[in-house]
Amino acid sequence: MAFKLSFSSGASEELESKGDGKMKGLNLVFLGPPGAGKGTQAQRISEKFGLVWICAGDILRQAVAQENQLGKEVQEYLKRGELVPDQIVLSLIAGRLDEVEDGFILDGFPRTLGQAKALDKLLHDRTMDLSAVIFLDVPDEEIVKRLSARRICPNCGAVYNMIYKPPKKDEKCDRCGTQLIRRRDDEPETVRNRLRVFREQTAPLIDYYKKNGLLKKVNGVGMPDQITEKIEMVLQRLPLN
Ligand SMILES: [Zn+2]
Repeated sequence: MAFKLSFSSGASEELESKGDGKMKGLNLVFLGPPGAGKGTQAQRISEKFGLVWICAGDILRQAVAQENQLGKEVQEYLKRGELVPDQIVLSLIAGRLDEVEDGFILDGFPRTLGQAKALDKLLHDRTMDLSAVIFLDVPDEEIVKRLSARRICPNCGAVYNMIYKPPKKDEKCDRCGTQLIRRRDDEPETVRNRLRVFREQTAPLIDYYKKNGLLKKVNGVGMPDQITEKIEMVLQRLPLN
């Protein structure tokens, strides 16, 4: 086995606190650098285990689409190119959590230690807690390789990857034949910058989840199917299962 598992130190306490309340499913956070395959894995695992997939980016887009008060506020921030304040993101997530019956996967949130602590409070208020934090670990150079191999079609928006999902002919779109391009965000230098920001922001977060025994590191290098299997193995070995 290429990775070791350790059981949560807080396992016995967790079991006790579940004893008197209603039994809940898996409540997970997926962490990982951009390009680690977090979204793909979150989607697969949520389908397999019947969990609600709460993607922070989608929540913001949905809020804007709904055109209610909160949505209008979100749109103002996005329009100005500013970060949406934690308080707003949290209340949107709270709304989704209230619909959860059998567990959830949070993807794209929390990203900072402050957000992690706010999430704890949000869950605590709902007599929920996290079962595990899955950290998809992929080395920076592998991510640079993956993302810089990404191409998009400027005409129809189709997405390709010269390593994993190359177009049939040269660097031309299968659907419309247009010459594919690389987004500026996927240029190696830009990717390295995004990774630097990610590592700085999430290092305290990873420490925090390591200390409370929730962090489960999964090696995110390999084919998507293999990685899904590794995550499933981790989940099956969680004390609550
Ligand atoms: Zn195209």
